[in-house]
Amino acid sequence: MVEQADLFIVGGGMVGAALAAAMAGSGQRIVVLEQQAPAAFDAASAPDLRVSAISAASRQLLSDIGAWRHIEAMRVAPYQRMLVWENKEAEGTLFDAAELGEDALGHIIENRVVQLGCQQAMAEHDNIELICPDQLRSLSEQGDHCLVTLASGRTFAAKLVVAADGAQSVARRLAGIGINSHDYPMHAFVATFAIEGGERDITWQQFTPDGPQSLLPLPGDYASLVWYQQPTFVRTLEEMSEAALIAAFQQQFPQRLPTLRHLVSRGSFALTRRHAQQYYRGRVVLAGDAAHTIHPLAGQGVNLGFQDVQALAALLQQAQAAGEDIAAPALLQRYQRQRMLPNHAMQRLMDAFCYGFRASAPPLRLLRNIALKLANRPGRLKQEVVRYALGLSPLSRGLRVVLPGKH
Ligand SMILES: Cc1cc2nc3c(=O)[nH]c(=O)nc-3n(C[C@H](O)[C@H](O)[C@H](O)COP(=O)(O)OP(=O)(O)OC[C@H]3O[C@@H](n4cnc5c(N)ncnc54)[C@H](O)[C@@H]3O)c2cc1C
Repeated sequence: MVEQADLFIVGGGMVGAALAAAMAGSGQRIVVLEQQAPAAFDAASAPDLRVSAISAASRQLLSDIGAWRHIEAMRVAPYQRMLVWENKEAEGTLFDAAELGEDALGHIIENRVVQLGCQQAMAEHDNIELICPDQLRSLSEQGDHCLVTLASGRTFAAKLVVAADGAQSVARRLAGIGINSHDYPMHAFVATFAIEGGERDITWQQFTPDGPQSLLPLPGDYASLVWYQQPTFVRTLEEMSEAALIAAFQQQFPQRLPTLRHLVSRGSFALTRRHAQQYYRGRVVLAGDAAHTIHPLAGQGVNLGFQDVQALAALLQQAQAAGEDIAAPALLQRYQRQRMLPNHAMQRLMDAFCYGFRASAPPLRLLRNIALKLANRPGRLKQEVVRYALGLSPLSRGLRVVLPGKH
């Protein structure tokens, strides 16, 4: 039996689930396929290893789609300030939400909490079905629909398939969409620590010639250490004793930071920039990491994915209201035009940070110092830099897109 769907979303992660919730009001039949159910939230547990800095713009989207209240009811760590400094310099550049009239620069949230919040928002709507656990087997274009088959044998005829199944997207591969990719010469070492003392409303980021290092606040007495380094050094960090790891941290970071008490968990991630050569083919369209991955040093990855969600949901709802095909090439082309360039620009900006701070050539050091000094001067330029990073600037979106009914 072939079941019908208007929108078939492969991947019920943060981006896929957010898109389904954003489209809930359309009344269309939406199916979300997820291969693995996230573990239920447990307030007594320590925070997960995988966390993301969620920007002010993403919080607004999550609030608009009904997910934020679920997320906030679990746990979030807001931060009002961000200090960036270079290689143990005494002073750095401080970014403060107060200068922008915002209550927070962002929130550090466990990926699973964001995913659960979006899935809870989805579950409030009868027109959305979550199929989990199951996996995508095949996709084939058949005239006015795309035939989707699952490992369980269920088959759907969908008007539009959204590939939101992450960096290794099977849906993207099955649709025949290629990617350009670049492996960074550094990995990310990530560790969650129980902490004591220190300031808690701030993210700390240090740039060194070997790569950046950050300490991010987590809910409760916890913090997340992210250390970008050559793969061999990252392996050493993974194998170090807890005491040696804490000592290595103390050597690198200033004293005013919270004291690390004990290690909760640690892991590492290889880093690759990927960009799909096209954002759609036939009736398959890409969103989130399936379309682009980025160096995570400024915490932009899923925030770009949420901007994809906002752009795609607005275009799909406009098409539906006008009685047009939601997979019309002109519509998908418009989505690609809106999102590809801003995503590419952010990828390149992260490369400039990643490689710019590693370079020791005097002209580059001079440029870097000028940029940091300019960014440190209170005023419009600094505000614009922060607005861009928070996704609040029209520049960071390419185009300002507003969900229907959310003005
Ligand atoms: C070290 C590190 C730090 C990061 N920090 C930040 C940060 O601070 N801020 C930020 O914005 N971003 C950050 N990112 C990036 C962020 O994690 C990703 O951009 C985000 O996870 C992408 O979400 P997604 O929903 O597109 O993909 P994913 O999170 O990969 O979700 C894809 C979903 O699809 C499911 N799936 C996959 N294949 C199938 C299939 N065949 N069938 C069914 N289901 C399938 C998966 O189970 C998963 O649930 C960081 C990344 C790394 C590596």
